[in-house]
Amino acid sequence: MIPVNIPSLDGREGELLAQCIQTGWISSEGPFIREFEEAFAKRCDRRYGIAVSNGTAALEIGIQALKLQPGDEVILPSFTIISCAGAIIRAGGVPVVIDSEPVTWNMDVSQIEARITKKTRAIMPVHIYGIPVDMDPLMDLARKYHLAVIEDAAQAHGLTYKGRPCGSFGELSTFSFYPNKLITTGEGGMVVTDDEGLAERCRSIRNLCFQPEARFVHEELGFNYRITNLQAALGLAQMERMDAFITKKRAMGAAYQHWLEGLAAFEKPPAKTPYADHIYWVFGLVLSDQARTTSAQEAANLLKERGIGTRPFFWPMHEQPVLKRMGFFKDESLPISERLARRGFYVPMGLGMQRDDVRHCCRILWEVFGNGDIPKDLLST
Ligand SMILES: *Cc1c(COP(=O)(O)O)cnc(C)c1O
Repeated sequence: MIPVNIPSLDGREGELLAQCIQTGWISSEGPFIREFEEAFAKRCDRRYGIAVSNGTAALEIGIQALKLQPGDEVILPSFTIISCAGAIIRAGGVPVVIDSEPVTWNMDVSQIEARITKKTRAIMPVHIYGIPVDMDPLMDLARKYHLAVIEDAAQAHGLTYKGRPCGSFGELSTFSFYPNKLITTGEGGMVVTDDEGLAERCRSIRNLCFQPEARFVHEELGFNYRITNLQAALGLAQMERMDAFITKKRAMGAAYQHWLEGLAAFEKPPAKTPYADHIYWVFGLVLSDQARTTSAQEAANLLKERGIGTRPFFWPMHEQPVLKRMGFFKDESLPISERLARRGFYVPMGLGMQRDDVRHCCRILWEVFGNGDIPKDLLST
């Protein structure tokens, strides 16, 4: 079985973890946390980093730091993870969803302006699967309508938009370090920002809004979303190899592009757009009308039988039972994200994989979906 992801932990992870044990610094007071925050923020061209317990927590803290008023609207893609809508709703806001572009699968920025109302307070772009959102027109709208931007860069470590790092746009950006992300701390996340006041608010919300002068007197409700020194140790070790990870992912992505060339059953992502080169955090596929099935679930079962792990694409926010029951997204219909959810999945892309594993996956994809055709250079063993 080739699983969809295997993390790579064979750098200095063990060494730095052992230091935590030897020195006794295992809590959120340990010295690796500041070091990790500073190194990662710098990598995003940001002044401040606030490391937290996971990427969902980073979004919740970031949204709370923006001080939404009840009923304030935040515009986001429907095709994303529940964490985004959840953070907005828990802060008293209203999520307003936008459909995806058919080619990049990212939020269609041209649809944003029509959804801006007097209540709109912020835009939450989410970079999907390794290609960035088209940020220039989005930032222009934010300036024009005085909207905050909170950038979910959980899948976009190391990715650039017109040469500028994802994670450097808007008031706040958030990351996840879950094991399937480019670098991992087991569980973990980070908020990055250039605004000193927002950074202070995020630090306070992360730590229950304890007050420096009167610790147990609270002016605001926070969370315990602290990260541990153990996690930061992993993060620092992973950062040392971040460029190597990117090189490896790009090589695997190029290999998938090459060996799947001509396989009509699938729509593949573009290798580049006018504003970015795909970083291939994952390699997504969308079943075309020529495929033997248009059901991603059925395709996943067929591939599992052949030893290939896959993950389904996101299920859009406007089709989430829990959010519908809460009264959101009545009569919303967003055909591109609905199609992506039903037809899309991604294939193995773990950092522990070798080029031959990618070749094997491609061969199986051709065998299952190629109607008898298999390119010659995949046939030899
Ligand atoms: C993974 C992910 C998150 C959530 O991160 P966790 O660490 O799993 O909580 C948020 N947004 C996006 C786009 C993600 O891919």
